[in-house]
Amino acid sequence: PFDVLVVGGGPAGAAAAIYAARKGIRTGIAAERFGGQVLDTMAIENFISMPYTEGPKLAVALEQHVREYEVDLMNLQRASKLVPAQEPGGLIEVQLESGASLKAKSVILSTGARWRQMGVPGEEQYRNRGVAYCPHCDGPLYKGKRVAVIGGGNSGVEAAIDLAGIVQHVTLVEFDAKLRADEVLQRKLRSLKNVDIITSGQTTEVLGDGKKVNGLVVKDRNSGESRTIELEGVFVQIGLLPNTEWLKGTVELSPRGEIVIDERGATSVPGVLAAGDATTVPYKQIVVAMGAGSTAALGAFDHLIRMPAA
Ligand code: FAD
Repeated sequence: PFDVLVVGGGPAGAAAAIYAARKGIRTGIAAERFGGQVLDTMAIENFISMPYTEGPKLAVALEQHVREYEVDLMNLQRASKLVPAQEPGGLIEVQLESGASLKAKSVILSTGARWRQMGVPGEEQYRNRGVAYCPHCDGPLYKGKRVAVIGGGNSGVEAAIDLAGIVQHVTLVEFDAKLRADEVLQRKLRSLKNVDIITSGQTTEVLGDGKKVNGLVVKDRNSGESRTIELEGVFVQIGLLPNTEWLKGTVELSPRGEIVIDERGATSVPGVLAAGDATTVPYKQIVVAMGAGSTAALGAFDHLIRMPAA
């Protein structure tokens, strides 16, 4: 069995595997797609100490760094079930969709998350070419330009306020008849001069010139009429979905499906820790996920050295 088995191969999982392996303990990492969301990212300008890199490059670097150590790297493996230890100090089991099963003294869950998409024409085609999901990441790329934010919940309104300080103009589009964000955020948003708010607005298409975004089609759900907004960027803020469906009923999840962790990365199941976008950590970023992965690995090590000798 493994001492530490990491499930998920994004920044959090890679950091956890490296920190665990450096303790000289038997470490494995199983990932559906090694690299994680980083593989879907183009420019990365907030990976501290590296002013600019690109997602696919960073994913290769993550894998190379993990391979510096004796880590059993199992790529293209999707976990389907977690079975907690049957007795204190017993082995935890992770079942894979392939039918195989892995056993470990401690497990680190780092299965990340995915942005909910609008599912309209143009969204996929212009992803990273005008269609963005992360204002902290891509906001500065739209300095002086016009953008829309889709979604009037807390994350959408926060994004609109954030972007209004960087870009020339923001149009916030909410599907419902009113915004759902906290009142204090709505008040702040309405006080900004370069923000327009559209409610009862259904985004039906992202337009572009073949290379990048140049417009957004929004249908008024009351009148049924459509209009085209000229702009350069569209930030989609309609939800971040944690990849935790397979953990329902075993590990405590928040109402949003995030794995509940404490400050050392421990979950509700003894010996099972978690890190990164799949957890209740408030900010979802690469450097944050890496820090959390390191924390979880050190937390797992603390757990291991307290286990009774076999
Ligand atoms: P992820 O990167 O999501 O990795 C999850 C891993 O778990 C993957 O290997 C996945 O295949 C695997 N997995 C999922 N389910 C299972 C399962 N059941 N069994 C086994 N494996 C599983 N952040 C920044 O800091 N700067 C940026 O510029 C930036 N730009 C971004 C641009 C885009 C388009 C996107 C989508 C995100 C961006 N982010 C950026 C956010 C950043 O990518 C995430 O915060 C970070 O990747 C989270 O790391 P993670 O390891 O927690 O999860």
